[in-house]
Amino acid sequence: MGNAAVGAARGAPAPRAPRPRLAAGLRRRLLAWYDESRRDLPWRGHPTLYGTWIAETMLQQTTVVAAAPCWERFLARFPDVRALAAADEADVLCAWSGLGYYRRARDLHAAARLIVAKANGRLPRTRNAWQELPGVGPYTAGAIASIALGEIVPAVDANARRVLVRLLCAAPEEASALRGRALEAVAAALVDPHRPGDWNQALMDLATAVCRPGAPACSICPLSGQCRARAAGIAAVVPPAAARRAPVAVRLSLLVLEMAGAILLVPPGTAPLASLPVASRSVRDDFKPLYRGLFGLPATPWYAARDAEIGRDDGFARLAARAWRDWAGLARGAAGSVGEAGTVKHAITTFRLDVAVTRLQWLDKETPAVCPAGSVWRRPDGPFPPLSSLATKALRCAGVT
Ligand code: SF4
Repeated sequence: MGNAAVGAARGAPAPRAPRPRLAAGLRRRLLAWYDESRRDLPWRGHPTLYGTWIAETMLQQTTVVAAAPCWERFLARFPDVRALAAADEADVLCAWSGLGYYRRARDLHAAARLIVAKANGRLPRTRNAWQELPGVGPYTAGAIASIALGEIVPAVDANARRVLVRLLCAAPEEASALRGRALEAVAAALVDPHRPGDWNQALMDLATAVCRPGAPACSICPLSGQCRARAAGIAAVVPPAAARRAPVAVRLSLLVLEMAGAILLVPPGTAPLASLPVASRSVRDDFKPLYRGLFGLPATPWYAARDAEIGRDDGFARLAARAWRDWAGLARGAAGSVGEAGTVKHAITTFRLDVAVTRLQWLDKETPAVCPAGSVWRRPDGPFPPLSSLATKALRCAGVT
């Protein structure tokens, strides 16, 4: 490896790839630290190509803590690509329960079907071939290929980039320049040729445990002696945090409607069923893209918490209970009782939901006439159709599951 610049953003110098001796020292130190400190994760014991693919897909938007039990459950249910390809989408979504971002499960399923249809079930053998599949971007493809196939390729997500930027940049302008092709080239030059998968996983572990956003623990970092950002005193401020869209605070209510020991589940994309007696309007009208393929619970509109009558009203749950009572027709003579079950918090894209969960015990013999078409009744011990994470939380809050 030479000392040539690896690329430059317009108007700013890109950092150079480390010289071979320095790169070798970085690899030696980081891998020694990894051998001592690596996280004990279920997919790391004997990494298979299929298991690594599933794990890396789960880890795209889910923490290791949440992904680990789901990974074991998923592999027990679909032990190989043929089993996954042969499954119904509803079963795949059910097995994905608890992970959220169900688009990943749909992509995984579509990719498995492609692999079986076009390659007779043989999984891709290179990073480039992995990238051809739905749901597999450059980072995931690099992680799979390096960990399970030993291909000498980098896997750079925002976490790995943070470590590389701090390691190599002594000025904020350099940090800004280290992206795109320049970043790819530097990352590729650093991958350990003998342990590419371990190198990439070591970077991930270091980013999580030591080189954290905002507050890097440089005093315990195995790379501190070679870190340019630390030497320059800018480790905590590079790379600059990406601008994020401001979250939208929302209040709504979900209904847990019980009849003869069964719970009402409404079909994917069901529009809000009961409105609160307020002038505020829903911040969202189309729920189909959010809940594709996932059943849920009857819901009210999504009200902006910033609206005075919504945000300041500490009687929101009481108003919601009244709305559900009216919706079900209890005021018109139907038999049943309504109670507040509690609240749950949930995040969907940029929305931060504050959800009042209402419980309604339906005592008439006939099911409520207002139940939407396609609804199903399920006993708490299941089996359930694929359920949204929000509905799962609300059922737990109501003590049903
Ligand atoms: S010395 Fe600090 S900033 Fe540099 S890589 Fe280590 S933890 Fe990150």
